[in-house]
Amino acid sequence: MPQRATKIVATLGPASNTPEMLEAMIRAGVNVVRLNFSHGKAQDHIDRADMVRAAAQRAGREVGIMADLQGPKIRVGKFAEGKVMLEPGQPFVLDGSRTEPGDIGGVGLDYKELPRDVKAGDVLLLNDGLIVMTVNQVLGDAVHTTVKLGGELSNNKGINKQGGGLTAPALTAKDMEDIKTAMSLRADYVAVSFPKNATDMELARQLCNMAAAPYNHKPGLIAKIERAEAIPELENILKVSDGIMVARGDLAVEVGNATVPGLQKHMIKLARQMDKVVITATQMMESMIVNPVPTRAEVSDVANAVLDGTDAVMLSAETAAGKYPLETVQQMAAICEAAEKTDHDPLDDDFIDETFTRIDQAIAMGALFTAHHLNAKAIVALTESGSTALWMSRHNVRMPIFAVTSQLTSQRKMTLYRNVRPLLVDTSADRDTALAEAETELKERGVIHSGDVYAITVGEPMGTPGGTNTLKIIRAG
Ligand code: PGA
Ligand code: MN
Repeated sequence: MPQRATKIVATLGPASNTPEMLEAMIRAGVNVVRLNFSHGKAQDHIDRADMVRAAAQRAGREVGIMADLQGPKIRVGKFAEGKVMLEPGQPFVLDGSRTEPGDIGGVGLDYKELPRDVKAGDVLLLNDGLIVMTVNQVLGDAVHTTVKLGGELSNNKGINKQGGGLTAPALTAKDMEDIKTAMSLRADYVAVSFPKNATDMELARQLCNMAAAPYNHKPGLIAKIERAEAIPELENILKVSDGIMVARGDLAVEVGNATVPGLQKHMIKLARQMDKVVITATQMMESMIVNPVPTRAEVSDVANAVLDGTDAVMLSAETAAGKYPLETVQQMAAICEAAEKTDHDPLDDDFIDETFTRIDQAIAMGALFTAHHLNAKAIVALTESGSTALWMSRHNVRMPIFAVTSQLTSQRKMTLYRNVRPLLVDTSADRDTALAEAETELKERGVIHSGDVYAITVGEPMGTPGGTNTLKIIRAG
């Protein structure tokens, strides 16, 4: 069992879409697979989810599945020749009512609302900020601009407005259909693209819960923080979500590159404080799309996200479309492990002065404290919903947290939690049998040996969610 605490999310795509490659990537350390709903049909995603779970079973690992919704497409239309070469200083018209294909003078819009959302003086960034235009005036449906930063603009490239302010709703009709598909394949997490506020996430939650009901399922919701408007709403968004993604790609375009590293640290800290999970995403190992080794800067970026306290680091095109998907996962895993070793914080003391009104949460904190002082080998949480393990994992501890659950959905959800190794064990029996089974399992995995001390939390009577009320320190027999 790997000793790495930080989890790896890998995006599936043509480079990783085979059973063999998937199995190899899972063995190399992938904990959660991201299905990108911007590409492919419903049946493709269903087939891929089956493939992921079969590969995970062969590898003997539990793997979570995250369905990432496309969200609003704020894009230009198509060009007669597929693309144009824009020069700085030239005029260019983005026209919502243009029907003929684009040319050097202008192009139509997939996003028809753009003329309503912008005014003279606004700065538009196209193709992830590689092309910059300023708005001179809006005449009817036509946005007249001057190109500031030129370059190649091709079909359906994305548009962002500097500082945010595009009104497109976070959930499109396509997203609503895709949520149904995601629930039918029992995605453990649904990632919502471009939410502006908590209301967007609440709507997504309602749609997910409705679509999940027939399957007796309940997904976790991840808000992708990638709009300028979402930043002041962060706390409210976190309150109604299970986690966030630091979606640095679109976020950097909206708020400016230089602002993102500081925001990343802030988001990771706030998420942990609020008992939520956080994924750091985009361009982490970008150069490995074409090269067999990462740049020094990428190595530092991944390591720093680990030191910031992220639950997971994410791979996008690196595993979806890159030349070296397996090598990327191997190297990312190695960087995470090394970074964790340099983190010498023995135990956060941030919770010492906090008050906990919930018994189960207080027991979880007590377990951290006691295990730390006894230099225990592991902390074991017998947990139905996984919340005890989540609370524990929001704080730095040196020993691994084993979350023993009888619920497959809880086990899969915990694949994303930092420093949590979720184990599926039938804990339906009486307490002593369950404790004995947990110990046998840990011994078989080589985590503890005879004579080792470990801490275990359990609810009495067993099997009631939220019922954890007991902390036991055990010396393995
Ligand atoms: P995307 O989201 O890869 O779906 O665009 C992540 C990001 O914007 O960073
Ligand atoms: Mn994005």
